[in-house]
Amino acid sequence: PAEPDLEALQHADVAALLPWPAAESDKYRRGVVGIAAGSARYPGAAVLAVSGALRGGAGAVRYVGPAGQAVIARFPETLVSDRGPHKAGRVQAWVVGPGAGDDVATVAEVLEADVPVLLDADGLRLADRDAVRARSAPTLMTPHAGEAAALLGVAREQVEAARLDAARELASRYGATVLLKGSTTLVVDPDGGPVRVNPTGTPWLATAGSGDVLSGLGGSLLAAGLAARDAGSAAAYLHGLAGRLAAKGAPIGAHDVAETLPRAWRDVQ
Ligand code: AMP
Ligand code: MG
Repeated sequence: PAEPDLEALQHADVAALLPWPAAESDKYRRGVVGIAAGSARYPGAAVLAVSGALRGGAGAVRYVGPAGQAVIARFPETLVSDRGPHKAGRVQAWVVGPGAGDDVATVAEVLEADVPVLLDADGLRLADRDAVRARSAPTLMTPHAGEAAALLGVAREQVEAARLDAARELASRYGATVLLKGSTTLVVDPDGGPVRVNPTGTPWLATAGSGDVLSGLGGSLLAAGLAARDAGSAAAYLHGLAGRLAAKGAPIGAHDVAETLPRAWRDVQ
């Protein structure tokens, strides 16, 4: 069989996709990203998703959920609300799911918003497939192999053995762009087209909370106006590069990855 059309982005490709602010930019034109994440049990997921979003190029980060106190303590620039997504104010893209527990109502509410949505972690599990399919704005799903396997109803090994097939199947079932995380990260659009393969990762990124940083970053890029496959592949690229720059051959925590994202932006520039 013919090799599928694979694209590996490089620094210059990513630089051309990123939302560099113009001289006359203001925070609203740069985009507002909404983060619906975290729970009493997992407040840290909210903090980490916000940490990625703040380094993703949106002009403002809005947080809704039960971890507002933890988020504000770490990132005072966050706009925190304890009302639901519908009442949170203007948002150009949502991230929903990291550490969200069983908050199915919030996931459903976010999916009703007519703006791009990044679905991750618990959000993937809680999202109604028909509700995702019915969306007219783009949806970007960011499962790791275990989450993809659960959604497809197959064993994790089966996804690992045929990652591209799994990503394509998910994209087609949900009518969504799929970013399948792992040692290589794939980004697949629902209507086919070339598959983006991320070359920048490092196994040091296999650490708790790493994916939460990626989801915030990807959501921020969506809010800044990137198409789902561009937001996903640029996020994976910067996240992988930040992981490498932060780790340099030694263990890191997920918050180190977020703190190194500005260096990754400078590196690709
Ligand atoms: P999560 O499992 O949601 O925390 O996401 C883990 C993040 O780390 C994803 O961005 C993965 O692509 C990345 N990652 C995990 N393991 C590896 C690996 N062995 N090599 C490169 N990146 C990895
Ligand atoms: Mg995760």
